[in-house]
Amino acid sequence: MPATPTIKKSSAPSSKPTAKTKAHTAAKAAPPVASPVTTSVTQKLAAIGLRGDWDFALHLPIRYEDETRITRIRDALPGVACQFEAEIIHNEITYRPRRQLVVQAQDGDDVISLRFLNFYGSQVKQLAVGKRLRLFGEVKHGFCGAEMVHPRYKLVAAGDPVPEALTPVYATTAGVVQLVIRKAIDKALANLTAKGAFDDALPETLRQKLRLNDFADSVVTLHRPPPSVPQASLMERTHPGWRRIKFDELLAQQLAMKKARAARDAKSAPRLATKNKLTKAFKAALPFALTHAQQRAANEIATDLAAPHPMQRLLQGDVGSGKTVVAALAAAQAIENGFQAALMAPTEILAEQHYRKLSGLLAPLGVTVTWLTGSLKAKEKREAIAEIAAGTTQLAIGTHALFQDGVSFANLGLAIVDEQHRFGVGQRLALREKARGKMQANATESQEAHQLMMSATPIPRTLSMSYFADLDVSVIDELPPGRTPIVTKLIADSRRDEVIERIRLACQPGLDGTKGAQAYWVCPLIEESETLQLQTAVDTYVNMQTTFPDLKVGLVHGRMKPTEKNEVMAAFVANDIQLLVATTVIEVGVDVSNASLMVIEHAERMGLSQMHQLRGRVGRGAKQSMCILMYHQPVGQIARARLKVIFENTDGFEIARQDLLLRGPGEHLGARQSGAPLLRFADIERDIDLLEAARNASDWLLKHDSMAADKHLARWLGSRQHYLKA
Ligand code: ADP
Ligand code: MG
Repeated sequence: MPATPTIKKSSAPSSKPTAKTKAHTAAKAAPPVASPVTTSVTQKLAAIGLRGDWDFALHLPIRYEDETRITRIRDALPGVACQFEAEIIHNEITYRPRRQLVVQAQDGDDVISLRFLNFYGSQVKQLAVGKRLRLFGEVKHGFCGAEMVHPRYKLVAAGDPVPEALTPVYATTAGVVQLVIRKAIDKALANLTAKGAFDDALPETLRQKLRLNDFADSVVTLHRPPPSVPQASLMERTHPGWRRIKFDELLAQQLAMKKARAARDAKSAPRLATKNKLTKAFKAALPFALTHAQQRAANEIATDLAAPHPMQRLLQGDVGSGKTVVAALAAAQAIENGFQAALMAPTEILAEQHYRKLSGLLAPLGVTVTWLTGSLKAKEKREAIAEIAAGTTQLAIGTHALFQDGVSFANLGLAIVDEQHRFGVGQRLALREKARGKMQANATESQEAHQLMMSATPIPRTLSMSYFADLDVSVIDELPPGRTPIVTKLIADSRRDEVIERIRLACQPGLDGTKGAQAYWVCPLIEESETLQLQTAVDTYVNMQTTFPDLKVGLVHGRMKPTEKNEVMAAFVANDIQLLVATTVIEVGVDVSNASLMVIEHAERMGLSQMHQLRGRVGRGAKQSMCILMYHQPVGQIARARLKVIFENTDGFEIARQDLLLRGPGEHLGARQSGAPLLRFADIERDIDLLEAARNASDWLLKHDSMAADKHLARWLGSRQHYLKA
C-alpha cells in the first residue's frame, strides 16, 4: 500500500537520550493523526493480539529495511531489495495479458516499468506524470527492460532527505498498513512513558548479573533505531537490545510454564497407589521382561499416579521402544485402585491394534476392556457408551470418539494418549475437559484424572526446556533386546526393477516351506490431491498383483472404511498378506514383527519424522530389516538434506534435532496445547544460552521476587493472558 505524500518520517535523535525522552520524541515527531484509528482497524489489530499498550510496545519489528540510501536503477543487483528514486514519465492501464496499471519512471537515462495488478482508481491519479517516487523493492529484468512488480513506493519532492536510520517493518494483518502500526506503537510507548509505567520489571541485581541491556532503552532502540546503531546487529538480532528482548521473551515463557505447573500441582487427583495386584499379574503375563528403561519409566509413572495431584507426563521413546506395555501397566495401576483408564490412539488401525493386544493380555486377568471408535454401529456404540458410563468398563480403548460428547466416564482415573503429537489442540482439550468434568460427578472435591501422553517423535532438549517445560518426561532410551538394526538404502526410482527383485527374494517362502518375510510398499504423498494419492495407491496395488502372482497383496489407504482397513491389517498380521501397499496411514504405531522390508516411494516428498516413523514399522523382529527410500530426480536442496539425515541416522532424537534445525519448531508444536504462546523473537536453537539463563532466572525470580515475576509476565502475556487458562 502506498504512503501518502504528506507523511514524513519520524526523526530519530542521534544522541543517546534516555528512553523516556526518546519515546516522547517518537510520539511527537509523528504527524497528527488525521482520522482516529477506526474501529475496524482496532478490531483487526486486536485479532492479531494487539490490544493494550504493552502488546504494541512489545510488537517489535520482524525486520528492517534500509531506506537510508538511494541506488541508481542501473546499479540494481538481482535479488537484492533496494531503494530507488525516479520520476514518472508515463502512466497507462493496459488489458493484456490482464488488466493492470503500468507506470514508467525515469532515473537519469534509465527507465523502469512499475506494474500494479491490483490498484485503486485513486492510485492512477496519484501516480501522475511528473511525480517523483521513492521505490523500494527488487528490480527484475524482463522482456521490456527493468521492471518492478507491486513496488512499495512513496511520493516525494526532489531533494527530500532520506531517513537516517533503518526502517522497521512490522508483522501486520490485511488492511492495516505499516504506517498505522507504527503510529499505534508510538502512541503506546508515549502512553507508557506518560504513565511512568515504562520501567524495568527485572531487579537490578539480576540485570547486572546477566549483563542485560536496559529494558526501555532496548524497546525504543529496536522500534526506532538511531542511525548510530550498527545495522547488521539489528538485522541479525545480535544487538544488546535484541538480546534483552529475547531473554525477556524466554523468561516470560518459563514463568508461564512454571505457573501453569504450580496451578496443576494445586489441583487434586485420585491417589492410585501401587497395589501389586493387577500390575503384578500383568507383568507376570508378559512374554518378556521389561527393559531397564521401561522399568524406570514405569516407576516414574507409578510414583506420579500415587500422588494426589494430576500427573501430566510425557512418555517418550523411539519407535519400537515398547511404550505400550508401560502405558498398560499404568492403566493396570488405575484399575487395581478401582478407577477406569482410557487409551486414545490417533487412528482406527492403531486403536484396533491396541485393543487386540491389550485385551489379549488383560481380559484373562479379569479386566473388562471396551472398544469405542466412530466406526462402530449405532447399537454397539450405545452399548459401549453405557458400559463406560456405568463403570463396568475398566479400560476403554479407542480413537478420539472416546472423548466426544455423549461419552462420560463413571470414574476415570487415568487418560492415556498415544502418539500425542498427532492430535489437534481441540481434541487434547476435549480430553482434559472430560477428565476434569467426569471426575467431579462422584468425587467430594473437584478432581482431575491423571494424564499420560506418549510420543515417538522425540522432543529435542531445547524444546523440552522451553515449550514443554511444564511436562514431566520419562524417556525410554533403549530398545528391547534382539533387534537388528535396520539397513537404509537410497535408490533412484529408475532402479525400480532391482527393488521389485528384492521384495521377491525377501517374501518368497524358504525351501523348507517356512514362510517368507513381509513387506510394506508405501505410496507417495501427493499433497495437492488426495484423490490422486488414492489413485496412485490403487494403481500400485493392481500393478503389484501382476508383478507378484505368487504373493498375496493387500491395500490400505485413508479412504477405506475402518472395518475394511482393520480386516486388511488383521490379514497382514496373520501373514495372509505378504505385501501391503499403503498410503502413509500406516505411519504410526502399527506393529507387525514379521515385516522386515519397507519401500517408500518418492521419499523426497516426505518429512523427516514421517520417514522415521514409517521406517520404524520394520526392524521389529529378529530378522535383518531393510528400508528402501526411492527418490525421483531431481531432488531439491532441502529434500536432499532430509534424505541425508534419514540415511545417516537411526536415532530418533538426532533425527528430531536435525528436523528442528531444518524446519523450526512448528511441527512439534502442532498439537501443543495453547498454553504456550509461540516465541516471536528468540530462536531456541540459536539462543540456547539465553534459554538457559532464562530458565535459571525464572526459578530465582519465583523464589526471591514473585512481584517482579508477575509484572514481567503481565507485560509479556498482555492480552494473551487468557491462553494460560486453556
Ligand atoms: P512403541 O514404543 O513404538 O509404541 P510398541 O509398544 O508397539 O512400541 O512395542 C514394539 C514391540 O516390542 C511390540 O511388539 C512389543 O510387544 C515389543 N516389546 C515391548 N517391550 C518389550 C521387551 N521388554 N522385550 C521384548 N519385546 C518387547
Ligand atoms: Mg506405539
